[in-house]
Amino acid sequence: MNSKLFAGLAATISVAYSALAQSPDEIAATLAKRALTNSTAMSILTDLTTTIGPRLDGSEAEKRAAAWARTRFEKLGFDKVWVETFPLEHGWARGIEKAEIVSPSPQPLAVTALGGSVATPPDGITAPIVLFNTYDEMVAAPTGSFAGKIVVVTEAMKRSRDGSGYGKAYRIRGSGPAEAARRGAIAYMHRSLATDSHRLPHTGETDYTNGVPPIPAAALSVPDAEQLDRLYALGEPVRVKLVLTPRDLGPATSQNIIAELKGREKPDEIVLLGAHIDSWDLGTGANDDGAGVAIAMGAAKLIADLPQRPKRTIRVVLFGSEETGLYGGDFYAHTHTNELPRHVIAAEPDEGQGPVYAFQTGVANPDDPTLNRIRVALAPLGVAAGDNNSHGTSDIESSVSMGVPAATLEPDATDYFDIHHTADDTLDKIKPERINQSTAAYAVFAYLEAELDGDYRAKSTGQGK
Ligand code: ZN
Ligand code: ZN
Repeated sequence: MNSKLFAGLAATISVAYSALAQSPDEIAATLAKRALTNSTAMSILTDLTTTIGPRLDGSEAEKRAAAWARTRFEKLGFDKVWVETFPLEHGWARGIEKAEIVSPSPQPLAVTALGGSVATPPDGITAPIVLFNTYDEMVAAPTGSFAGKIVVVTEAMKRSRDGSGYGKAYRIRGSGPAEAARRGAIAYMHRSLATDSHRLPHTGETDYTNGVPPIPAAALSVPDAEQLDRLYALGEPVRVKLVLTPRDLGPATSQNIIAELKGREKPDEIVLLGAHIDSWDLGTGANDDGAGVAIAMGAAKLIADLPQRPKRTIRVVLFGSEETGLYGGDFYAHTHTNELPRHVIAAEPDEGQGPVYAFQTGVANPDDPTLNRIRVALAPLGVAAGDNNSHGTSDIESSVSMGVPAATLEPDATDYFDIHHTADDTLDKIKPERINQSTAAYAVFAYLEAELDGDYRAKSTGQGK
C-alpha cells in the first residue's frame, strides 16, 4: 500500500471512529448544526409541491403523492418502505363556487365551498340572510327559526403564536352547517377561520350530523364577511345568491406511506414521526402539510446519514386523508394496535414551517432524564422546555389516545392561519431558515429518543398518561 493511500485510509478510519466515539448528545448537536444548513427538507418540499401540486384526499393526485413519497424514501436510503391502503366512504370534488349580494346593493362575494359540502341547485340558492356575530348566538336560536334563510356567522378567529384560536373557532366551520340546518336554514356561510385580511376564503371540512339534512356550506373571505356585517347592521333585508356545484364521488381509497430506519439494538421499539401527505385543493399545501412532510423526512434523512443507526427504530408515517377526518391516523392506530405498546413516543409537525419554540410532552414521567437531555439539546435552537399537556397533533392523536406517549414540538403559528387552506398556501411562502430550524429540532428529538432509553408509560399501573 503506498503511503498516500494509507494516510487517506487512516484519516477516514479516524473520522469514522471519532463519530462512533461521540456521545449521543454530541451527535445530536452535530445533527442540529447540519440541519440548519442542509437543503434536503427544502428540496423535498419543492419537489412535492411542484411535481404533485394539490393532493386532495382520495384523489388521483394523492395517489401520485404516495408513489412520489415511496420513491423518495427509497432514494433517501430508508431500510424499509411500504404503503397501507384504506377505504374512504366518499371522495369529493370541488365545482363552481360563486356568491353575490343580490340586494340591497348588488356585489360579488369571495367564497369557497367547505370540504364535503353538498351542492346547491345548478342555478343556486337566492334567499335572505340571517347574520350572527357569534356562533353562540346562532345556536341559541330556536328550532325552525331559520326556515327559508341563509345563515351567516361572522365570528372572528384570534391570532396567537400557539395557533389555539383555530381550535376555539373550529366549531363555526365543523358544526355550523349542521346546527343551522337543524334550525331550518337552507344554506350556511361563515367568516373563514383565518387571521388575514385578503379576499381569499379558507376551506376546510365540515361535519354533517346524522339525521339533519345536509345544506350547502361555504366560507367567506374575511373582508367579505366584514362587508356583510356592515350591510346587515344597516337594518335592511340582505339577499344573497350562492352557487356551489361540488360532487360526491362515492367510495374511494387513500393510503399511509411508512418508512423505517431499523434500530441497531432494539428494532421493535419505535419512535414515530408523522405528517400528512394530503392537502386541500386550492393551493399546493406547502405549509399544510408539505412543511411537515419535509421536516419529518428531512430529519430522518439526517439520522440515516450517520455512520450507524440509532438503537431504536425511527418510523416516519406520511398519513393520507387527514383533512377530511383524520382517517389515515385512525386507520394506522387501529391496524397497528399490537405494536402501539412498543411505540416509545410520537410527534407530528402539522402547523406550518416553524420555527419550533417549545418542546411539550404528554408522558407519565416528564422528569425522565432522557427528556431533560433532549431539552438541553434543543435549547441552542431557541426551543424552550414546555408543559406536559401534549395530546399529539392531528394524525397521531388516535395512537396517543390509545396510550402512545406524545410530544409536540410547538411551532410559531402566528402567521400560519393567514394562508391556511387557501389558494395562497404555496411554496413561495416558505422560508428555508424556518424549515431548517424545525428539521433540526425534529432530528435532535428523534435521534435522542431512538438512541437513549427513555420509557414514558406509567409502569406500576400499566396505563399510559
Ligand atoms: Zn394539516
Ligand atoms: Zn389542514
